[in-house]
Amino acid sequence: MNKRNTELFVDINAIENNIGIIKKITSGKKICAVVKANAYGHGDVVVANTLLKNNIEWLAVSSIEEGISLREQGILNARILVMGGNYKDCLKEIIHYKLTPSLFSIDSLLSLAERLNEELLIHLKIDTGMSRLGVKLEDTSELIRIVNSHKSFKVEGVFTHLANADLSNNEKNRVQLETFEIVLAKLKQGGIIPSLIHTANSATILTLDQSYFDMVRPGLLIYGVSPFGNGDEIGLKMSMSWHTKPLQIKKVNKGERVSYEGSWQAEVDSLVAVLPVGYADGYHRLLSNNAFTLVKGMHAPVIGNVCMDHIIVDVTKIPDINCNDEFVLLGKQGEKEITFEQISEWFQTIPYEIMCAISSRVPRVYSN
Ligand SMILES: *Cc1c(COP(=O)(O)O)cnc(C)c1O
Repeated sequence: MNKRNTELFVDINAIENNIGIIKKITSGKKICAVVKANAYGHGDVVVANTLLKNNIEWLAVSSIEEGISLREQGILNARILVMGGNYKDCLKEIIHYKLTPSLFSIDSLLSLAERLNEELLIHLKIDTGMSRLGVKLEDTSELIRIVNSHKSFKVEGVFTHLANADLSNNEKNRVQLETFEIVLAKLKQGGIIPSLIHTANSATILTLDQSYFDMVRPGLLIYGVSPFGNGDEIGLKMSMSWHTKPLQIKKVNKGERVSYEGSWQAEVDSLVAVLPVGYADGYHRLLSNNAFTLVKGMHAPVIGNVCMDHIIVDVTKIPDINCNDEFVLLGKQGEKEITFEQISEWFQTIPYEIMCAISSRVPRVYSN
């Protein structure tokens, strides 16, 4: 292991496996793979190259900067959809780096229109009920007017995002899709006929094939996690695992306390391991006294408060432990596994947040 004694292992084969599963489920629909937030923490360039090798044409990022960064690191043969951003003053970059902006408001359209004097392929984002980015149904006529009065805009795509996808609450998703259909019909009447309509994220890829249209936008599934916690059943493979080795193993006598504020006290003479991972690495402080690690195929609980750079685990019951033993914070060891779902439960969040919170300080190591 490296000098830091910790690494985030990224399994490229798992990503390829997961792409295969998405292709199968969506019967060969176009895929726009979401690689925002550094590919959910995996490393966007490596993931993007893997996706391209597997014939994915489209990548989606959340900002102009993420798009530029991919281009500058050699991702030239993919279309890149930028899902949001302040486009004012960015036209040069959009054109130079061949990025495809999502225009989500009348203002975002106007901010580009003023300066545009060559053809630009754009995607329009419609707000069908999430009240996040997007043009609302009642503003469709204005949208059509602006698009049609600026001939440089070529509307290639129209899309929306579903707010209740993860609740497998298909009723609410259906209401949003109905609104979306109304907008599409109005656009069509206004002469705007996109070739790429897209709405599906990971959750509706699994639950609602009416959401597929021409292209699907999976994020989480690529990384081997299902929003419904049934990843194993559908053959997904977790593409991330987090490993570390102790810097020190020591005795803590009965009655002695551990870490800041001494929130853990030894009830018996104990043995603890100090691991070089803390909340600055994305190992959340709410995991204090509230999580376990795996070592030698057994559970070793996190004791005391999580520090910025360290956690301390109780290894009293682990036989013959030493500083060369590998601890797993996330992923499999032997028969046992710590899943994203498990950690989410420990500190009341969703797998997404854990995945993209593992900080850049943790070195990424790739399987090939
Ligand atoms: C993040 C994002 C996605 C991907 O969502 P997953 O749930 O990870 O599949 C798709 N579309 C938009 C607009 C997003 O912001």
